[in-house]
Amino acid sequence: VRSLRAAVAERQAEEQTATAALRTEVETLRASVAQARTEARTDPLTGAANRAAFDEALARRCQLATAGGDGFALIMVDVDHFKRVNDDHGHAVGDRVLTALVAFLRPRVRRDDLIARWGGEEFAVVLPGASVRVALKKARAVLRELAGTDWTIDAGPKLRFTVSAGVTAWRAGDEPAAVAARADQALYRAKHAGRNRAERG
Ligand code: GH3
Ligand code: MG
Ligand code: MG
Repeated sequence: VRSLRAAVAERQAEEQTATAALRTEVETLRASVAQARTEARTDPLTGAANRAAFDEALARRCQLATAGGDGFALIMVDVDHFKRVNDDHGHAVGDRVLTALVAFLRPRVRRDDLIARWGGEEFAVVLPGASVRVALKKARAVLRELAGTDWTIDAGPKLRFTVSAGVTAWRAGDEPAAVAARADQALYRAKHAGRNRAERG
């Protein structure tokens, strides 16, 4: 009986070790899946949401608004003469400017606002619950502050850059593409009106 008990105890100890190892493995896998999910929705250069995450957020915001929930505003931002930044300072500095822009925007918007890289040197900010008037005021204040900011990148010479913005808000009946197109048209007008400005669409 004693040797049988010893054998059972040994077996239990082995099983406990095996269970603990499996638990650790499951936790590691869970963390990896969560990280992969986050990465799949994030622009690797700037840390902003990527286009897929933006498209999803815009669609969801339109659904919520259509269902009678809060509306939202959309700000499209495009770096002015970004080609010149690359040409004058190099592509690596250009990359850092994009990262700096996102870092600049982040503390200047609300926690629930989504900053996304729309593509290249264009970004979109979704502002849940914001009216076009509020979003335009915000955009103009941020643009003004950015235009007065000196940047030192990689111990290089001081540089400044500006952005243009197109601002719109959801309107009854709007599909995601309609909101995006209006913001884009307003951005286009801001460019043509001389850049470093925000227009309303
Ligand atoms: P505008 O004021 O009209 O917007 O002029 P722009 O020079 O900013 O616009 P244009 O569309 O002519 O050029 C955009 C440039 O952005 C060209 C492209 O090489 C650069 N660009 C796009 N994505 C990246 C990136 O990830 N890193 C860097 N360094 N440059 C990028
Ligand atoms: Mg552009
Ligand atoms: Mg540009």
